[in-house]
Amino acid sequence: MSAPAPLIPRPEGLYCPSGDFYIDPQRPVPRALITHAHGDHARAGHGAVMATRQTLDLMAIRYGEDFTASRQPAQGETQIGDARVSFHPAGHILGSAQIAVHTQGVRVTVSGDYARVANPSCAPFEPVPCDIFVTEATFGLPVFRHPDPATEIDKLLDSVARFPERAHLVGAYALGKAQRVIMLLRERGWTGPIYLHGAMLALCEYHIQQGVALGDLRPATTDQMRKADFAGQIILAPPSAFEATWAQRFPDPVICFASGWMAVRARARQRGVELPLVISDHVDWPDLTRTITELDPAQTWVTHGREDAVIRWCELQGRVAIPLHLAGFEDEAE
Ligand SMILES: [Zn+2]
Ligand SMILES: [Zn+2]
Repeated sequence: MSAPAPLIPRPEGLYCPSGDFYIDPQRPVPRALITHAHGDHARAGHGAVMATRQTLDLMAIRYGEDFTASRQPAQGETQIGDARVSFHPAGHILGSAQIAVHTQGVRVTVSGDYARVANPSCAPFEPVPCDIFVTEATFGLPVFRHPDPATEIDKLLDSVARFPERAHLVGAYALGKAQRVIMLLRERGWTGPIYLHGAMLALCEYHIQQGVALGDLRPATTDQMRKADFAGQIILAPPSAFEATWAQRFPDPVICFASGWMAVRARARQRGVELPLVISDHVDWPDLTRTITELDPAQTWVTHGREDAVIRWCELQGRVAIPLHLAGFEDEAE
């Protein structure tokens, strides 16, 4: 009789029978290991959660302190049942981790969401040797080649200089993308204030506490600012805020949106985005395929996104690849 697979896709999520836990489950389970705090990976309501200290903190900020019955910060290697687990940086957002599971003599690395491009708001991706590499495929098509984020930020700064009478309203995910855009603005020389939608304040505050230098941040409220005062200023908000009357407090705003999906022109047009900024926290096609080549696992398992193209690429390379068909992930959507 052959041993059961080290990890099994189930409707709740990816399940480890020898440790009796799930990784990034979509439904409440007794024991969850969570790669990072984005809503589609980190759900509230599990019995016990193991994650990095920062992911646990971020979940508490988003869901409240009672988001789980018990929490355990990941530290070194931990034995869970007959599995040994450890967490390693994924380079995606603050606290993001890959989860390495060692069981039945097989090493599996579940990368969660990951990126290989330098991101000063979190620790860089750490290659973890493994027999099975589990990868996402959000931008898993050869057409996706993310540009240098510095050149994207320079487009924003050029526009601010060109239209000093207008405000620049930048749509960005409140967790991860917003702080990344702020760090990039600082790197490209924007030392002035950056105004924030209320939904971003607590998350930015936590990044500052964790040593991520975000500079002069101010709430984008109208208490002390008149409409005209926002001329020439940069304001960050979750994209959903644009449809509300909230956006009307700014003078003739230039609508910008920072997302990997902005590489797709139709998406930008559809959303009424005047200045698309192609800035992603996920691997693009060259980084995804390079990572598989570097790790050289015996098997590659593909989770959410463009599975077909990645599977096909692996096959052409003579690699074993398996689609997991896990549902529920919505990367860089909203
Ligand atoms: Zn994510
Ligand atoms: Zn994801």
